[in-house]
Amino acid sequence: MIKVEVIFKSLSALTIAGGSKVGAVDVPFNELGIPPSSVKGALRTAVSRYTPSNFTACSEVNPDMMRSKHASGPCDVCKLFGYPGSGESCFYVEVEGVQLEKYLLTRVAIEDKTQKAKEGSLFTQEVLRPGFQFKATLNYTCEDPRLFKLLLYSLLSLRLWRFGRNGMVDLKVTNPEQICKSTSCDNELKTVLSSLSNFLWGD
Ligand SMILES: [Zn+2]
Repeated sequence: MIKVEVIFKSLSALTIAGGSKVGAVDVPFNELGIPPSSVKGALRTAVSRYTPSNFTACSEVNPDMMRSKHASGPCDVCKLFGYPGSGESCFYVEVEGVQLEKYLLTRVAIEDKTQKAKEGSLFTQEVLRPGFQFKATLNYTCEDPRLFKLLLYSLLSLRLWRFGRNGMVDLKVTNPEQICKSTSCDNELKTVLSSLSNFLWGD
């Protein structure tokens, strides 16, 4: 198993997986903190959006559509992240428990067409403040070194894509040397890891 230790830092107010509870807050924050499935889901969406040229992504969430696109075998993204019927994915995520300080943010929904506020569209959201950090470990369990590369590419992609409802995160990998001891790092992997070793937008 290869462990990839990652620190995430929110660049904007972050809302992850609002619950279903209806109360004074229209969009409540997930009571359980940062769910590992949200981290995994965000990585999957990001790498499906920015798939490196030598990998494949079906970019489907509908199992029927997925099956038809997988007619000649599952795509690389599904092999790494798992898909209905396959059972296994190549890694699991652990999120370190943190004290979540939640803030209330009042937002206005904007209409796409007119770019004006929708009538009666004021709503309140629970968010984490920009700059909030949390740690997660990605535990890679497959033998395929190519898919491990794709996992690291998904981290690169997530720095350019959204996390949660509409947040942005920066991230860095804190154990690149340890990773290159657990697996053989070729030049490509070293380049990706070197880019991941620091926050993209500085400390
Ligand atoms: Zn697929």
